This record gives sequence, structure tokens and C-alpha cells, in this order.
Amino acid sequence: MNRPIYMDNAATTRTDPRVVEAMLPYFTEVYGNPGSRNHMYGWESEAAVDAAREQAASLIGAGPKEIIWTSGATESNNLAIKGAAQMYAKAPLGSTGRGHIITAIIEHKAVLDPVKRLEREGFEVTWLEPGTDGIITAEMVRNAMRDDTILVTIMWANNEVGTINEVPEIGAVCREKGVVFHTDATQWVGKMPTDVDRDNIDLLSWSGHKIYGPKGVGALYVRRRKPRVRLQAQMDGGGHERGMRSGTLNVTGIVGMGAACAICAEEMETERERLLGLRRRLETELSSRMDVVAVNGHADRRLPHLTNISFGFVEGESLMMGIKDIACSSGSACTSASLEPSYVLKGLGLGDDLAHSSLRLSLGRFSTEEDVEIAIEGIVKAVEHLRRLSPLYDLHQEGIDINTIEWQAH
Ligand SMILES: *Cc1c(COP(=O)(O)O)cnc(C)c1O
Repeated sequence: MNRPIYMDNAATTRTDPRVVEAMLPYFTEVYGNPGSRNHMYGWESEAAVDAAREQAASLIGAGPKEIIWTSGATESNNLAIKGAAQMYAKAPLGSTGRGHIITAIIEHKAVLDPVKRLEREGFEVTWLEPGTDGIITAEMVRNAMRDDTILVTIMWANNEVGTINEVPEIGAVCREKGVVFHTDATQWVGKMPTDVDRDNIDLLSWSGHKIYGPKGVGALYVRRRKPRVRLQAQMDGGGHERGMRSGTLNVTGIVGMGAACAICAEEMETERERLLGLRRRLETELSSRMDVVAVNGHADRRLPHLTNISFGFVEGESLMMGIKDIACSSGSACTSASLEPSYVLKGLGLGDDLAHSSLRLSLGRFSTEEDVEIAIEGIVKAVEHLRRLSPLYDLHQEGIDINTIEWQAH
């Protein structure tokens, strides 16, 4: 059986073979604990971790001492958000008025859930809502600022629609107000140029497995000067990573993430252009060959490799069944037993039906032109087939506006 073509690079990426190559010696030959200070085994591993720290830091314009290794972006977000809120809280746990936090309803769960926990623990939260273009602007953040605001956390690029928020401008507002600014940059870093100084960032999360590195390793950038940002540790233990994240370092994973960062830095520009070309081809072919097709989110302020497209007059689950040879994500999220429409698409103002009948197609380093051809043909075939069975689509073609029909009440 042929495996489906892979168009889910926003969920995870294949590990680059060059990354695997770099990791291999650290399973078998160089296996010391980088915390072992008394012998060569430890020193070798420590040197490898330090080299990876340089590679990760240089990808985002940071210094190596500003990188904290974690298990992924979920952990980086938890450490940044809870760690900063607890450090800069205006009142102790158990009291009210602990401080105000600004975030957005379209963030990843790995931001929403830590912020909700802080809300239960006495912090007040402003949940910003984007317009239909999906963008969170600096103006929205400025208008939400209060005297007691202690933290702003806004993602750089959205993982479902690929829209790009006004991160450098939001950072500038935070700098002006003296408020700590965190960004979940998991979909951005490695794909787009990043400079934490130019872009006014205090805390930045990213992950190995979204940039062709291994799963289970991530990093958090923590600004050390102008201003120095401090965090409350969330994991207590041996005081690793300058006390901010205890636990023996995942040396193989870290070496892999370092190598992945170095390759991204090297190849980002050409890869961006290539993927943008493929994405545009997907979007123009699908929307020119069929009607009632909409690309979600801002037309231009979007990542080069990710698109989210809604197909009117098809039912979401049937659409997914019809494109079994394409591995991608739908606008439905499985929560326990039921299918919920994506909260991100709803946040952009899409109705439940259209959210369900949306596809997120995300390209990557290993996507080919042929993959894109297959996806276009497969999706057109599935959508046209479903529409042939749809009485509503018939009405639409006859020029009847479905929304004006008065359905018979029983
Ligand atoms: C994938 C992703 C995460 C979670 O990253 P993990 O490394 O899997 O924990 C967080 N935020 C965004 C925007 C993501 O795309």
C-alpha cells in the first residue's frame, strides 16, 4: 500500500538525515553526563551541548547563555509564562490582584492552558480576539495594557492558518511599558529571519521537531540584558540550566536540535522561496478550478509553507475520507468523543460548517512539486464528488442564496 503524501509539516517534520547523522555518535561513543565535571566523558558531552547552544542562539540573534534547553515548545511555554508570572507577581499566591496578563484566543493550547491556570491562581487575563484576517496587532495590545500588566504572550505565527502577528511592534509596546514579552515562535523560527534584539523579544519558545530536528527537545530564549528577565523554575532538581530547568540534559536531542538550527540558518532563504512557490500553486489551482473556496487568514501576512483552505458545500468528515492519500489536518479538533470545530477558525469568524470543511496543508523541506500536483488533483476530485451529491450545492448553482431560504418548521 502506498503511504499518503505528507502535508502535515506544521504538526511535525521528518528529521533531516544530516541531523540524524550528527546525533548518532552521542548515543554510543560520547555518552557522558554533561554534568559530570571530573572526567573526559562529561567534558565531551558538555562541549557538544555548548556547541549546540551556539547554533541555537545564532539562529535567533541571541547569546549562548540565553538559551535554556527543554523538552519542547510546550515546556518552554510553561516555563516562560508561569515562570515570569510567578516571578513578577504583584501579590502572593492565594491573594487577588496578582497582576494582569495579555494573550489571544488563537494561541496554541500550550499557551492557552498555562494562562488559564494562572487565571485560576489569581492573575487577571485579557484574551485578545483577532479580526477576520487572523492578525493580532500592536494596537490591540497597546489598548489592553494596564498599570498592573506584567506579561504579554502572543505567538509569532499561527499554527493552524499561518498568519503572522505584529511581533516586533508588540515587543516595542511592551518595551515602552516595561512589560515582559514572550512569543511562542514554534512555527516561525527556522523558517523566517529572527533577531531577538531587533524584534524586541524577552522570551521566545521553539521546538526541535518542527524544524527537522528530533522530537522531545526544545529551547527557551531568556533575555539576559536590557532588561535581564528572571523566571521562577518549574522543575526543581540539580539546578541545571542555571537553575531554571533541572534534569540531566538530553544530549542527543540537543545535538540534533543544534544541527537542525544550523541547517535552517543556512538554507532558510532558498527554502522559503521554494515553499512559497508551492503554496501559491496549491492556493491558486484549488481556488481557480472550483468555486466557493476560501483561503483563510490575511492574504499576505502568512507563513510561506502553510495554507488553510475552506471548501463550501462539502461535509468535513466526508472530505477527510475522500482524501485518504493526503496526510493533512482538518478544521476539526478531536476532543474526547466529539468533533469540535477549530477554535482558531471560529476565532477568525468562520461558522461551524465551514470550519469543519477546512484543510490545513503544510509543506516542508521534503515536499516536492509532484506532491503538490497529487494533492491538487486529489482534493479537486474529492470536493467535486461530494458536491455532485449535495442538494444544497445544486441550489447554489441555480443561483439561490442558501442563507435566504426559509426552512419549513415542523
Ligand atoms: C507544535 C507547537 C507547540 C508544541 O510544541 P511541542 O514541542 O510539540 O511541545 C507549541 N506551539 C506551537 C505554535 C506549535 O506549533
